Amino acid sequence: MTGRPKAKTWRIPSESHREVLVTLKSNCFNLFDFGSGNLWTFDLEGRLMGMYVDQVNYRRTLDNRFFAKSRKSGNGQTFRTVEHVSLKSAGGLIDRARSLLLFVQPRLPGELNGYVQKILRMDMPSLEKSGEAFSGIYLPVSVLPPDQYMSLVLQITEGCNYDQCVFCTFYSDRRFRIKPLDEIEEHIGQVKRFFGAGLMLRKTVFLADANALVIPQSRLLPILGSVNDLLPQFKSIYSFIDVFTGIKKSARDFSDLKELRLKRLYLGVESGNSELLDLLKKPQLVSDVIVLAERIKAGGVNLGLIFLAGAGGLAFHSKHLADSVRLIESIPLSSHDLVYISELYGNSREYHLALEERGVPLPSRQETRRMAIEFKTAVTKVVPKGVAVPVYDIRQFFY
Ligand code: SF4
Repeated sequence: MTGRPKAKTWRIPSESHREVLVTLKSNCFNLFDFGSGNLWTFDLEGRLMGMYVDQVNYRRTLDNRFFAKSRKSGNGQTFRTVEHVSLKSAGGLIDRARSLLLFVQPRLPGELNGYVQKILRMDMPSLEKSGEAFSGIYLPVSVLPPDQYMSLVLQITEGCNYDQCVFCTFYSDRRFRIKPLDEIEEHIGQVKRFFGAGLMLRKTVFLADANALVIPQSRLLPILGSVNDLLPQFKSIYSFIDVFTGIKKSARDFSDLKELRLKRLYLGVESGNSELLDLLKKPQLVSDVIVLAERIKAGGVNLGLIFLAGAGGLAFHSKHLADSVRLIESIPLSSHDLVYISELYGNSREYHLALEERGVPLPSRQETRRMAIEFKTAVTKVVPKGVAVPVYDIRQFFY
């Protein structure tokens, strides 16, 4: 069981005279029961990653929580919903995969033995231990951009260097600190041991926590050097950068980071409207967003801009949208850049208070969705060809 296995599928007749499909891919192991339509996906260490059982889609997080994902429609809109699933229920669903695997095992070729044994050993108590091991290495991974949900996260900082935006509670459980290089190298070693062959599922490296690029350049360069040396199979590195500290970096700094495989930086722009940025307590100038974005692009690094649809409710929507579109038009975007429209459902108390102070009602879910679609439509019209404009709901994020 060395190297990256090529994708292969075996069709095994099952008790119900339907086939069971066993697929070994380069990065995961799939078990599909034609009779029921159920599908289980495991990483190459045998850990369940996701399953589709009885027409419900389940995800397992690396700290061993389980969620059922579904879509609900109403008033002409479709919303994705997420519900927590107990370990007992999830264990029952995994046991069904284990029974199926035990049934087909005698008919599977010897080359699959190692993988099958790993999956059979990964019962719920073993998954719980794996989850505890993950939590021993990582603080909760609070948020990632949607195209990085399957990245390999490295926590080179902890927390947020600012932590006062009223809509954001992602890092309120931890103090900000930059890890020293030797601690980062030790962290990478722990991460590699934890993921093992499961690393194959990860295509990119994401430097976390929030705004990890706040690290001064003289410390950042050796950190990226170590990431390159210790994880040579990863050809692209991604991270968040904030405008208010990122503005200290030059185009040359970004070009040097690009040489060390930095591919894209994500900027929480939130809005092009200064009044709304004040309400959100986001301490950045719209003019600085343009300067920073130009420097990042001049350094050859791609951009991911994130805007908050629904921020400031219906009262702000028109000016928020118009000023954000104007800002986007001022940034030299090109293909491989992204503009994310994040739906803000405003769960934080501080955000509610900020709206209340201005007599602005919190928009409904339907109103927020409608504002997000209008945002996407308007932004799509002004970005160059090749720049995707996805809408997302951060509550769908799992790691
Ligand atoms: S939005 Fe970004 S800068 Fe603001 S508190 Fe959250 S992580 Fe920090």
